[in-house]
Amino acid sequence: MIQIDGSFGEGGGQILRSSIALAMVTGSPVRIEKIRAGRSKPGLMRQHLTAVQAATKICNARVSGDAIGSTQVTFEPGQVAGGDYTFGIGTAGSTTLVLQTIMLPLLCADRPSRITLDGGTHNPFAPPFDFLERAYLPLVNRMGPSVRATLERPGFFPAGGGRIVIEIEPAPMLQGFELLERGELRRRHARAAIANLSPSIGDREIGVIARRLGWEPTELAIDVVSDSRGPGNIVTLTLEYEHVTEVFTGFGEVKRSAEAVATHAVQACQRYQKHTAPVGEYLTDQLMLPMALAGNGAFASTGLSRHSETHIELIRRFLNTRIRAERHTADSTLITFSSGVT
Ligand code: ATP
Repeated sequence: MIQIDGSFGEGGGQILRSSIALAMVTGSPVRIEKIRAGRSKPGLMRQHLTAVQAATKICNARVSGDAIGSTQVTFEPGQVAGGDYTFGIGTAGSTTLVLQTIMLPLLCADRPSRITLDGGTHNPFAPPFDFLERAYLPLVNRMGPSVRATLERPGFFPAGGGRIVIEIEPAPMLQGFELLERGELRRRHARAAIANLSPSIGDREIGVIARRLGWEPTELAIDVVSDSRGPGNIVTLTLEYEHVTEVFTGFGEVKRSAEAVATHAVQACQRYQKHTAPVGEYLTDQLMLPMALAGNGAFASTGLSRHSETHIELIRRFLNTRIRAERHTADSTLITFSSGVT
């Protein structure tokens, strides 16, 4: 059984999610201890528990420690089976993070899957649906499978109540890719989504984006969302290049001004624009797992976060894939995946 110390590196929820995903794809039982020891409220929160339960279901695993607040989980995977699954987080916990746990094994499963996930779809500190759909999934689809995501209902923190549906056509194995350049910028657009709040918030956010980035009125939109359970506000800035699309987000919160929400997204976008590498901070940590599983390919990243470094260490515990991170250009890191240890 592989033993994972959940407190190493960043000590967050990613260690749990990726350990479970890797246990499923390798068939290796795993025991994770000191789960989320680096966080102020350690142990399993609803999102993490739902991820463990969803994983248990898709591979008929034997599991212990699957309870709220638990700081250790033992997970003995069975055979992963594609199929029609529905999982509810029960709070505004992030649907996209639950998906991170179960999607990888289902990409190479015996048959197609349709996964319905109920909970939050636009949560701070998690990939918003827009990022999943526009930035992450197109790259996963480049690896062989075909994954389609639909936002049926938005769910903002704290009310939740959102729903996403993911349809997966698996591939027998994942094929890595090379992504070293962005290519031409083809389109850029900004969206301020407002649910059950004053639309003037959207006007102020769009105003900040127009002033700070100089984007044209045709590239800016306010989206008044009518089917949200609770209030919500999110700003997304999308840059669509020939070879990659990146999405930068600002999340509305109580006591955070519309200007601050928009500025957060603008600054993330400007940081990315100062670099030349195609793969930004969040895409970098999220691409690690599928690329490592493919065991071949390379991408140029704007840099490795502590989150990504932790992720690489973890993946090395399960797979023989060699992951090398080296200076590429003055402002980018080349991450290369190859089979076998040297
Ligand atoms: P914890 O509560 O322990 O921090 P967690 O389970 O909420 O853990 P993390 O371990 O911090 O989550 O992982 C967060 C994930 O969300 C990472 O994969 C990161 O790339 C992704 N993420 C966070 N913010 C964004 C964002 N704005 N856009 C895209 N992805 C994001």
